[in-house]
Amino acid sequence: MGIGLKLLELLLRQKLFGQGLKSEPNTPLIVSYAVTKACNLQCLHCHVSANDAMKDELNLQEAMQAIDEMANLGTQALIFSGGEPMLRKEFVLTLAEHCVDAGIIPAMLTNGVLINHKTAMELKDAGIMAVGIPIDSVIPERHDQLRNVPGTFTKAVKAVQACLDVDLEVVITTMALEDTFDEIPERIDFLAALGVEQVAVYDLVPVGRGKDVMDQAMSQTQRENLIRYLQQTQENRDMVFTMSGGIPLYPEIALEMHRFNDTKPRDLLLKEFWIHNPVGCHAGIFYFSLRPNGDVYPCTFLPVTVGNIREQSLTSIWHNSKILNELRERSLLKGKCGRCEYRDSCGGCRGRAYACSGDYLETDPVCLRDLMVRENVFPKTVKRFGWCVG
Ligand code: SF4
Ligand code: SF4
Repeated sequence: MGIGLKLLELLLRQKLFGQGLKSEPNTPLIVSYAVTKACNLQCLHCHVSANDAMKDELNLQEAMQAIDEMANLGTQALIFSGGEPMLRKEFVLTLAEHCVDAGIIPAMLTNGVLINHKTAMELKDAGIMAVGIPIDSVIPERHDQLRNVPGTFTKAVKAVQACLDVDLEVVITTMALEDTFDEIPERIDFLAALGVEQVAVYDLVPVGRGKDVMDQAMSQTQRENLIRYLQQTQENRDMVFTMSGGIPLYPEIALEMHRFNDTKPRDLLLKEFWIHNPVGCHAGIFYFSLRPNGDVYPCTFLPVTVGNIREQSLTSIWHNSKILNELRERSLLKGKCGRCEYRDSCGGCRGRAYACSGDYLETDPVCLRDLMVRENVFPKTVKRFGWCVG
């Protein structure tokens, strides 16, 4: 199916049936591809500890071949990330065009530093459908402190404006941290005034440099208050929210809250990046992450190599990896997640479980079970999950 038809179908599914991407389990509907480990920033919480490029990053031919295999495996959306993908701009532009030819929706996560009107237009012309840009605070110094380079707040805001000016879809990615939690309403006001309609709020997962700043993670009470705040805000604004970084069930929880309160969300779903299947953590089930050197991880927040596409075909890795197959079998989960009635529909964040215990099948210490029980989200009624990539 051509990409235009695919987008039309997605839009219709969303508008008429409230459904997004859908497929049989064990189809990598969404893939994130970190095209380089190099970055022009040094963010304190960077989950891939981006710094310099790897010496053995994939070349164009290898990446194109991987995209062809993804198309055969059923991939619908490919998100370029890094490091900073704009440091390999020509590479990304060529691959985006290749994605469009292969019927895959291309998108990109960038820190925005290298985006201006000209580059925004180049991305759009290459077929990039959406760009994720971080704004982590309305206080420029606080954003710059987290991103570890002065001036990045101003550049990120300019990047957002440039993308919106050329009608490139923008998703703001924003960290919810303990000490900036109280300013989130102000941040949403600021983003709305900028013309932003889609926001992905990230929880901190202790991976990469994120491990060193875990004392800044939200408390559980803040996390629950945030979910409630976003659900209520969704009612009043023409904005769409999701939560990423280990909270994939946000759309389902918010939907039940709306049902319970008899309120009507304008929209609950980021246009291209949500999936209508009840699995919660989608690592290795509907999603994987391709690393700059061809390694494959189940998720960018679960840095366990399950194979390398230079040594084995992507198709063979996806179908035969012992680790991916273990992640698909929820009866193997241990501890609280293993005993939980939400085991199949939630499964806990496998990345956080691994980061905290060294075992990707162990309990996820950030658990929303109590909230789901309170809000009448029953395991059997969970139908969808949201965008959860980095
Ligand atoms: S214990 Fe919590 S995190 Fe684990 S599956 Fe149940 S609800 Fe999800
Ligand atoms: S491991 Fe699962 S829940 Fe955690 S960030 Fe990845 S996809 Fe989301």
